[in-house]
Amino acid sequence: MKIGCPKEIKPQEFRVGMTPNAAQEAVARGHEVIIETGAGLGSGFDNDAYVAAGARIVDTAEEVFATADMIVKVKEPQAVERKMLREGQLLFTYLHLAPDPEQTHDLLASGCTAIAYETVTDSNGGLPLLAPMSEVAGRLAPQVGSWTLQKANGGRGVLMGGVPGVGPAKVVVIGGGVVGTHAAQVAAGMGADVTVLDRSLPRLRYLDDVFGGRFKNQYSTAGATAELIQSADMVIGAVLIPGAAAPKLITREQLSTMKPGAVLVDVAIDQGGCFETSKATTHADPIYEVDGIMHYCVANMPGAVARTSTIALGNATMPFMLALAEKGWKQACQDDPHLLAGLNVHAGQLTYYAVGKALGIDV
Ligand code: NAD
Repeated sequence: MKIGCPKEIKPQEFRVGMTPNAAQEAVARGHEVIIETGAGLGSGFDNDAYVAAGARIVDTAEEVFATADMIVKVKEPQAVERKMLREGQLLFTYLHLAPDPEQTHDLLASGCTAIAYETVTDSNGGLPLLAPMSEVAGRLAPQVGSWTLQKANGGRGVLMGGVPGVGPAKVVVIGGGVVGTHAAQVAAGMGADVTVLDRSLPRLRYLDDVFGGRFKNQYSTAGATAELIQSADMVIGAVLIPGAAAPKLITREQLSTMKPGAVLVDVAIDQGGCFETSKATTHADPIYEVDGIMHYCVANMPGAVARTSTIALGNATMPFMLALAEKGWKQACQDDPHLLAGLNVHAGQLTYYAVGKALGIDV
């Protein structure tokens, strides 16, 4: 199969759909890999790395789209890219169609077959192509939070691990799923005093079994949250209610009960945010202050560490990409119900129920 990887064109997007290692694996199996020039630069992969992997570099996205049987990307295709998709072409990328009727209509009109990373499933009920980005955002949260805690950035001027004779920062993580667990691990690794709140008892049992000695956990109630935030130096919001906007777990009124200069890192901002005072920010201007409390609310946190994110995403997508290339989408989806769960669009037909329901289109 001819596999094409264009350069991402969404603003502030530095990731790339295929790493040189993924290209090499595909080439070794007899596939042809076509990379747009400079596609990997934002993640630290130059053209030479792809050429060494056996890929062919082309000058324009048009050439990639015109030549390839399958397009492998990171972000949803932008309007100009959607015009280049054609009937029978396979698109493998993040799509997030439910809130995006324009993209959905363009994909249906193109006649392509589109498999969305975010709806591919695994045998544990997880979303294996979303998890790597949650891992990145989770591990990044204490890192950006500790920077925000510094005095020059408006924070309380507290060091995460303290020093001998001075206690550590107190960190509260609300939501103990993928983001929350990775956030808690890193915050604890920095020496902070960490408590994770979650609503799921099985999840709390798991956290206690695996991390009992490294951080504490507590059942999430409004009362427990209200008490813990009073002494917190940093609160990391990491909740998810699938298919719904994030619940607001800290109100504006409650900010006055917190220590001046404490930091809120709202990782759930891509679902509307779990603090009442959260509003989405960008890497260029990531923090702001409300009532003396610093907020960090960047909606695409993994973009800050594009190289790590590209490699992590590539590791997760590669087995599916290879199966699609080797078997074609139909056979690959017949053989693997988890990949089939990723099928959102085929030949002008919407094939994903939740998207159809959200957009009022027959599935
Ligand atoms: P997840 O499903 O693995 O975990 C969510 C956890 O929240 C679950 O354990 C659930 O029990 C818990 N929860 C739900 N309601 C709660 C409540 N009231 N109190 C405490 N816990 C509660 O999800 P995840 O992959 O960890 O993602 C978490 C959030 O981070 C999502 O909103 C996701 O979209 C977001 N995210 C943001 C970025 C970013 O760049 N900002 C990147 C990746 C993920």
